Amino acid sequence: MKICRFNDQRVGVLVDGEVADVTSVLEELPTMQWPYPRHDVFLERLSDLQPRLQAHVADARRIPLAEVELLSPVGNVGKVIGAPANYVRHVNEARADSAIHHGKEIKTIAELGLFLKATSSLIGPSEPVLVPVTEQRVDHEIELAVVIGRKARNISEDEALSYVAGYTIGLDMTVRGTEDRSSRKSADTFSVLGPWLVTPDEFGDPDQVDFELTVDGETRQRANTRDLIFGVKQLISLASQIFTLEPGDVIMTGTPEGVGPVVPGQKMYCTMDRIGAMSVAVDASTSRWIS
Ligand code: MN
Repeated sequence: MKICRFNDQRVGVLVDGEVADVTSVLEELPTMQWPYPRHDVFLERLSDLQPRLQAHVADARRIPLAEVELLSPVGNVGKVIGAPANYVRHVNEARADSAIHHGKEIKTIAELGLFLKATSSLIGPSEPVLVPVTEQRVDHEIELAVVIGRKARNISEDEALSYVAGYTIGLDMTVRGTEDRSSRKSADTFSVLGPWLVTPDEFGDPDQVDFELTVDGETRQRANTRDLIFGVKQLISLASQIFTLEPGDVIMTGTPEGVGPVVPGQKMYCTMDRIGAMSVAVDASTSRWIS
């Protein structure tokens, strides 16, 4: 099942290229009292709700996909977890290009572990990525994004995929420079998820996924998740040893070779097997990046 969020916090299921509005299913969520939970209560209940979503589809209003504004498929994100230097050919291009390494030694994920991006950086594909005023490069990084559906702590690789609510396309936008990753990758709009969440039963094996990113029609990144240094199961298990994973937490699994700059006015087009495609505009921010 492909589940999206759209327009004014509505929930949809993708059916034959149209969005079936199943927002009424949200009435089944528990009433909340302050302090509200940090995690996503819809994704927490998604496996229970899936049959009911399916039942709602029959009577739902259908809207052509082109007429909806797609939001991030995760409503309440608790953590955006990043996997640095997780494809060998991306490590190699970073080592060969001073515009990427900026004099820093480029290590791999085995040495670096994971990093976090600010949750305020998260947007959906209907919003533009905003490039700050800077002399530094602002690069696209397309990545398979894994969305957690169940609380997970110290789980093994064998059980890791049973904690997944779904998969979506991620963009981990990045300013190149000497600053810490949590600065360079956390500006507003620097985490894009979309176009929708694909549930694990429909998605299948996350370690065999072709994907591609083009900028204004030019192919920049084209790869398959089979080339991840730390695969999806290993990333989930590793993350769960560091922090408790909660429904709505996102793991961006790392980007392959072909990263490159974007400037205001350009359009990024992302496609991923078994998910679909999303187009994301690039616009100018008034923020001034200090270097
Ligand atoms: Mn990345």
